[in-house]
Formats: sequence, C-alpha cells, structure tokens
Amino acid sequence: MSELNLVLLGPPGSGKGTQGERLQEDFHLPYYATGDILRAAVRDETELGREAKEYMDRGDLVPDEVIVGVIGERIAQHEAADGFILDGFPRTTPQAEALDSKMGELGRELTAALLIDVTDDEVVRRLGGRRTCVKNGHVFHVEFDPPKNEGICDVCGARLEVRDDDKPDVIRHRLATYHEKTEPLIARYEEAGILRRIDGSLTPDEVGDRIRAMLATRRMEEEL
Ligand SMILES: [Zn+2]
Repeated sequence: MSELNLVLLGPPGSGKGTQGERLQEDFHLPYYATGDILRAAVRDETELGREAKEYMDRGDLVPDEVIVGVIGERIAQHEAADGFILDGFPRTTPQAEALDSKMGELGRELTAALLIDVTDDEVVRRLGGRRTCVKNGHVFHVEFDPPKNEGICDVCGARLEVRDDDKPDVIRHRLATYHEKTEPLIARYEEAGILRRIDGSLTPDEVGDRIRAMLATRRMEEEL
C-alpha cells in the first residue's frame, strides 16, 4: 500500500482539526497536531523534548529544527509506516524546507498537502458568531447553535460573551497573518504538484467525503 504522508492547511475556522480526526479514523493514520506532539515529547522527556522544554520554560519559541526533529521521531515510528497527518506545521516556507529535508533523510516524501479553502468572510461568520458562557465555557453560535434565550447559557444560565479571539477585527488580523505566511506554502506545494484544494464552505461531512474520495482514488491509481 502506498503511503499517505499528508499535510493539512487551512485558516482558523476551516474545520481542519475535525477533518484531521476523520482522516485518522478513515485511513488509520496517526494525527500529529504539532502542539500535541511537542507536549508529548516534553512529557516523555525525549532528548528533543528536553531541548524544547528549555525554550518553552524561557518563554521562547521552539526553533524549527527542534520541532522538525520531534516530528521526524514520530514519522520514523512504526505507527506512521503507512503515512501520517500533520496539522499545524509547516506554517512558513523555512519550516516547509526543514520538513522536506527531514522527510528526505527518512527516505520519504509528502504525498499531498490538503488545503481546506474557506473565504475570510465565511471564517468571520463562523468564528465571529460564537458566544461563550463566562462561567463554564459552554459554546453556542448565534446562527448554527443559538441558545434558547439570547445572551444566556442553556446549560448553566450564565451570561454569554464574545471572547476576544472571536471578535471580527481580531479574526481579520489572524487571517491576514495566515494569508501572508501560507500563500508561499500553497505556491510551493502547487509547484510540487501535491496541492489538493477542498471547498471548505461545504458541510463537514461533505468536506470529509471529498477528501476521502480524493485519497482513495490516489491509492487506487497507484495500485493499478
Ligand atoms: Zn454555561
């Protein structure tokens, strides 16, 4: 069976995490969210985990080569022999270059970069509509999952607020940063012929079906 070495790309609010979990179930691939595997390496006190911890304890960003090292450790394991799903890395061109060279060292290459494409307006609609309960963090959405009484949590009766992260100008700012960093990555993967765009405006089920069909076709083509 051919490997499915996948990178997931998409703006905040694109449903990338949800799709990553589905892919994990459908194709039995390990799902590596960068933050999670970094924390796991720190917890397990691997050599790279200890190195990463030094940066984190100082409040510094963990350097790309350390992150790529941690990713490489996971990819080299048996669980990732048929492939993996990487989420949250790479985010910049230098990170993509570091990942490519790490993959080369391991005798592997990326199979596809899946871009879940959602317009900025749709992201603002999705994230900006969230209302969070101030007491216990229960989340509602003015359009998709409205509370029975406006501004009041159905579960515990506390007041609902718009978190700072969900304010439209904050979302637009995050999106601007996302575009600035991600556009060169998209161009890079497009040039390498491995970019696959998925219309993220569809429902999560439809998005999942399209990704599945795309990857299944790919595997069949290779087996023929
Ligand atoms: Zn609540």
